[in-house]
Amino acid sequence: MKAFEKNIRKVEPYVPGEQPQHKVIKLNTNENPYPPAPGVTRALEEMDTDRLRLYPDPTAGPLVEELARFYHVNPDQVFVGVGSDDVLSMCFLTFFNSEKPIYFPDITYSFYKVWADLYRIPYECQKLDENFRIVKEDYYKENGGVIFPNPNAPTAIYEELDVVEDIIAHNQDVIVIVDEAYVDFAGRSVLELIDKYENLIVVQTFSKARSMAGMRIGYAISNPMLIKYLNDAKYSFNSYTMNQTSLICGVEAVKDRAYFEAAVHKIIETREWAKGELAKLGFHYLDSSANFIFAMHPKYDAKELFEALKANNIYVRYWGSERIEQYMRITIGTREEMEALFDFLRKYMNR
Ligand code: PMP
Repeated sequence: MKAFEKNIRKVEPYVPGEQPQHKVIKLNTNENPYPPAPGVTRALEEMDTDRLRLYPDPTAGPLVEELARFYHVNPDQVFVGVGSDDVLSMCFLTFFNSEKPIYFPDITYSFYKVWADLYRIPYECQKLDENFRIVKEDYYKENGGVIFPNPNAPTAIYEELDVVEDIIAHNQDVIVIVDEAYVDFAGRSVLELIDKYENLIVVQTFSKARSMAGMRIGYAISNPMLIKYLNDAKYSFNSYTMNQTSLICGVEAVKDRAYFEAAVHKIIETREWAKGELAKLGFHYLDSSANFIFAMHPKYDAKELFEALKANNIYVRYWGSERIEQYMRITIGTREEMEALFDFLRKYMNR
């Protein structure tokens, strides 16, 4: 090891799902199979590229205002970033500065552990129960902050608001972040409680229900005080996080509520049908409230199945980590994509 290496920040990075460059049935990174709202395409076609000479609005004003309108909050309650990964990373940096460990579930979005390591935040994972449910009492102990997704990933399990509220209420001396990347496919959002709890931050994304993973837009909604702290950290890091193109397209995506709701409805419909198909094939799965299903088959090894699917250009996600070695996560695609998946599985099982 070189002498200078001892002062280098070493991190074990997050490993994103594969983005193959050839055509595949892509059910591995929870993207939306439908295109973004028509207004987004129009905005791109009509974009004044001369505007790209200039720096974008550092406050992301129009996008913040459009989101504030959509969610019936004030613009000073909204923070936007380059995907919710950027927003969550800023939240870790801003709000998790205690010597006490932050808490999150043992099976959850694996980026949390990476940010905690990157920013040297102590953390302690709280075990989901044998049915992969959050045990709310585990979060009653003193801690340095709490974060969990609802619905959780990769389990897709949604906890009702009373469970989420109980965790927030028991942790009013620290910040609680609820990562609602998938809430549009689930049920009530914890945004309802934003005025009731000063310690609550809600994070959502354009990557799933709004079909814009490639544009990279995420946002946090909270009270003006916490949003101010978040902006102070952001302006100390990079003033121009949001590029001009995503500001314009983001506004168009939020404006079209009808299109957004229709896409969500189609995905939920396909998900419910897919659950039945999986059951017919003998799969066990957790009851999904997201745009993916976490499934296992008692007779077929998950890794072998994952590889067989991949060899046939059907990509799903597999981790092989503790407690979930036999599970695969299958994103809900179009009805046709899901039919291709089930056709393959039927053939595989009848070999
Ligand atoms: N939170 C959860 C739970 C996720 O699964 C993801 C998607 N990988 C994200 C946040 C980040 O999504 P994005 O950065 O695309 O908004």
